Amino acid sequence: MDHAPTAEICSLLASVRATLRELAEEGVETLDRSDLAAIRWPPRPDGSLAEDPAPDLARSTARGRTRTLEDVRLDLGECTRCPLCEGRNRIVFGDGNPDAALMFIGEGPGQEEDRRGLPFVGRAGELLTQMIERGLEIPRSEVYICNIVKCRPPGNRTPQPNEVASCKPFLDGQIDAVQPRTIVALGRPATSLLLGREVSITKVRGNWHEYRGIPLMPTFHPAYLLRQYTAENRRVVWEDLKAALARSRQ
Ligand code: URA
Repeated sequence: MDHAPTAEICSLLASVRATLRELAEEGVETLDRSDLAAIRWPPRPDGSLAEDPAPDLARSTARGRTRTLEDVRLDLGECTRCPLCEGRNRIVFGDGNPDAALMFIGEGPGQEEDRRGLPFVGRAGELLTQMIERGLEIPRSEVYICNIVKCRPPGNRTPQPNEVASCKPFLDGQIDAVQPRTIVALGRPATSLLLGREVSITKVRGNWHEYRGIPLMPTFHPAYLLRQYTAENRRVVWEDLKAALARSRQ
């Protein structure tokens, strides 16, 4: 059975709901025809559904409104905004404490994450969990963990710029909802996105940066650490994580 139209309609409805909620928050009680145009309905003349835009979640917080993780998840819907939806089994939204002081942002779901719908539950995830629980001595459930893309890239390849761009409003929505005191960016793709430029992770890790006014510590991705499990790499990641935890407690 082909579920694509259902998924597209769900995604569209989520977007319409988000728009209506925004309008209601702005005090709009009735819609005239020009207001309705903003909702991007009906379908185009060729019968296809209008492009389902990512809602401008950043705009909401700029006005001092806060959205919950549930709001952001609802806006994401059964997302079909980029081609990654075609290969996924489950959307991997995020996991952990919605009020976490410390937030970890990785690259994208792998096979196990795609199967279970949870971030960092494969081999790299086991290492990350150990670093958090045995290293930092806090339960994993105390932090918040997510990725820059919510669907598994085929063959675990690096997410492409259009995929990352489609997902970014939802990552920003998660950050705004959780309002962590410190963010740890895991690996080059997450760090490059948050710093807004292509970086060499070896050069930027261990130094403080900022994203949306929040202190940001880039470090090596646990998958890299698994491949290059040297004493030096373990030491520097450990230093980065300790610094991030300390800053989140200031
Ligand atoms: N699992 C995730 O959820 N994210 C990664 O970046 C790697 C593994």
